[in-house]
Amino acid sequence: MKTFFSEKHKLRDANTELYGGELVKPFERPQRLDFIVDEIKTRGLGEILNPNKVNLNIIGKVHDQDYIKFLDNAWNEWTKEGFKGEAIPTVWPSRSMNSEKIPTFIEGKLGYYSLAGETSISNGSIEAAYEAVRVAISAVDTLVKDKLSGIFALCRPPGHHASKNQYGGYCFFNNAAIAAERFKELGAKKIFILDIDFHHGNGTQSIFYDKSDVFYASLHGDPMFAFPHFLGHSDERGSGNGEGYNSNFPMPPGTKFQIWLEAFDNSIKEIKKFKPDALVISLGVDAYEKDPISFFKLKSNNFIDIGRKLSKLSIPTLFVMEGGYSIKEIGVNTINTLEGFENG
Ligand SMILES: [Zn+2]
Repeated sequence: MKTFFSEKHKLRDANTELYGGELVKPFERPQRLDFIVDEIKTRGLGEILNPNKVNLNIIGKVHDQDYIKFLDNAWNEWTKEGFKGEAIPTVWPSRSMNSEKIPTFIEGKLGYYSLAGETSISNGSIEAAYEAVRVAISAVDTLVKDKLSGIFALCRPPGHHASKNQYGGYCFFNNAAIAAERFKELGAKKIFILDIDFHHGNGTQSIFYDKSDVFYASLHGDPMFAFPHFLGHSDERGSGNGEGYNSNFPMPPGTKFQIWLEAFDNSIKEIKKFKPDALVISLGVDAYEKDPISFFKLKSNNFIDIGRKLSKLSIPTLFVMEGGYSIKEIGVNTINTLEGFENG
């Protein structure tokens, strides 16, 4: 399987994440991809390609223009104020003060355009986020042009928590959603996004919630216990034209593969019923048992079965990298999924 990847992901290298009341080194760090790239090479998965020049205007099909502009300028506006640390939001338009006015001062803007406080904006972060979009688009283009069965977009930073106008959960641009839009541009009528990251992809869900041409399904830690806490319940089924095209499988702490697989098999049934022209897998491997910020109990070899089952669908499949924070095993778990798919 071919992989698209760019060294420029390293521009996203924040020093701080707000976690447990402390500022810690972010769980989402550049070394994650070193382990994945090493494993691709060791096991000979296939070629690793640099992204093509792509027209980034497609981002505007998923994200609002004012949000894109905010991201473009946030770091400069922040440093201009003389703040010493990285840009972390501290105030939000919460339930008791939900004015629609967008503040002028950067501190207010950070709150307006973020969904959570863990994700620092640092120098180079947004440049890396643009590069992740290039990686995703290049992978879609090659998959379609060469009529491949599967391809891997090794994106970083991840994307599934980013909504049309909010960042957070380590995500700025929604790579999977933008990839789905690219599939449409290239002629696909129906796309299915299956999100197997441990966390609910609130961003992807909200982007396509009222659409019937992109089905979003997610298997994740129950938001009553897990980030992003305020979305991802099973009664969220889509709205308007999108009613019936959104499907959530929240699962409790300690969930083992056997139970996870029942939910996965249900989502496979939904894929078969929907008959998409393309499949996008939001591939997080943080359902792994040793992940430091998750609570499922999947083992490394379970990821082989996941890949194998996906290959049986015989639908052109784009794998987009999302989370996975057990850094030592992230390479093995990711490539197990992709090799399982390749070997069908
Ligand atoms: Zn995750």
